[in-house]
Amino acid sequence: MEIGSQGAMDVLDPASDTVIASVPMCGASEALSALNSAFEFQPQWEATPPAQRADVLRATAAMVVARKDSLARIITQECGKPLAEAAGEVQYSADYFSSAANEIHALNDTHLDLQRPGVRGVVRHRAVGVCAAITPWNFPLAMLARKVAPALAAGCAQLAKPAEETPLSAFALAEILLECGLPPRCLHVLSGDAKAIATTWLMDGRVRKLSFTGSTDTGRLLLRQCAQEIVRCSMELGGHAAFIILADADIDLAVKGALQAKFRNAGQTCICPNRFLVHESIASEFTARVAVAAAQLKIAPGMEAGSQIGPLIHDAAVEKVRSHVADALARGGKLICGGQTKQLPDLPDRFFEPTVIANCDPSMLCFTQETFGPVIPIMSVTSQKEAIDVANSSPFGLAGYVFGGSDSSTRSVAQQLQCGVVGVNEAAPSNARAPFGGVKYSGYGREGGAWGLMEYVTTQYLALRSLDK
Ligand code: ADP
Repeated sequence: MEIGSQGAMDVLDPASDTVIASVPMCGASEALSALNSAFEFQPQWEATPPAQRADVLRATAAMVVARKDSLARIITQECGKPLAEAAGEVQYSADYFSSAANEIHALNDTHLDLQRPGVRGVVRHRAVGVCAAITPWNFPLAMLARKVAPALAAGCAQLAKPAEETPLSAFALAEILLECGLPPRCLHVLSGDAKAIATTWLMDGRVRKLSFTGSTDTGRLLLRQCAQEIVRCSMELGGHAAFIILADADIDLAVKGALQAKFRNAGQTCICPNRFLVHESIASEFTARVAVAAAQLKIAPGMEAGSQIGPLIHDAAVEKVRSHVADALARGGKLICGGQTKQLPDLPDRFFEPTVIANCDPSMLCFTQETFGPVIPIMSVTSQKEAIDVANSSPFGLAGYVFGGSDSSTRSVAQQLQCGVVGVNEAAPSNARAPFGGVKYSGYGREGGAWGLMEYVTTQYLALRSLDK
């Protein structure tokens, strides 16, 4: 067993509480050594031709896919999601490596006509320097892939601290990158004391960029630390997505979309819909049908064949969902299905039933905070304007969804939503080729495609007067 300066920590399977691994509990001393190593090596990686860096990323994408089964098992074991979903996450992670490799041409110089005789402009895209990534437990592989792939593509060395709950996916990814030819000093993954590691990195002055995915509260705290050394940040913080269903929506499509978007990872995703705003003319039909479908989902450990709803990550998560349900019911919500945990024999009481609550309103906790569990709270609305106003009343703005029968009206509603990603009659908008990120309390910066790559470069403008006659 590897030990860090602060000892070791167990990684638990949330479905069973079985200890699946023990990992080093690193602290400030390991954080500093990793930073020293990355800082010294970074110029060499930046000087490596982009095509060569892209080769490492393409090989990584291929190896991630080749190891889909074993990586999916690691994800399911440490974060609990159904194995089929974990396999989807593996593919999605691989896509970030291919996408970063494909976009590497965006780093090419841009030539400017300055309209001044004898002087021309060149705009260079330089690696920002050593980067830090801090990632959450709900997509332990993909959230790291999203950061590591563009950072390495841009020529940055990457320091990474995965969530306490899920370090194993991160170590598995690091191993693959090394096997695919990444110089070891380009990437350092440390498990351990989040605060000590982050403080060491962010207050040092040599880390030039932080990419963080996690809660808004932690994001704020890290931003304060980053202010000291003017560290550039990308912040993918909490979400509170609205799922708007217009009067002319295809109810079948809306029900399917709601199930897909809401129950992925048992509702523990930052883009999962938290507020269902359904036109009053179809609200009762949608409610009845989504509840019938939700009640049929199979609740079981993620490793079990056919599992659709795995465990929540820990007991605190269960308590939060319970409190949101209790609050909604106390304020006049009507429980249509679920509402409690399902006790599976010999397993921790952590499997929350898919839950549908009607008669919800914006005064309820589930309408003001991210529930992060399998709950569909439904509010009936009388107009598109009301739906848009309620959706935009949240200080969060990561994702949103609009389901309706006309391309022009759904698009018009989508464009009025204050969020970074909108699915229009589409429940799975995330794509490694597209920009992902939020506005307001959901943060800033984008991940994916060329937008993600540009987060890891600084722009240098050269005004070149040639002395050649
Ligand atoms: P969640 O509620 O989803 O666990 P957090 O924001 O607490 O979200 O965690 C996301 C990531 O931030 C994890 O890797 C966690 O270890 C890290 N983290 C939490 N608190 C701190 C902190 N004070 N300093 C640095 N990192 C932190």
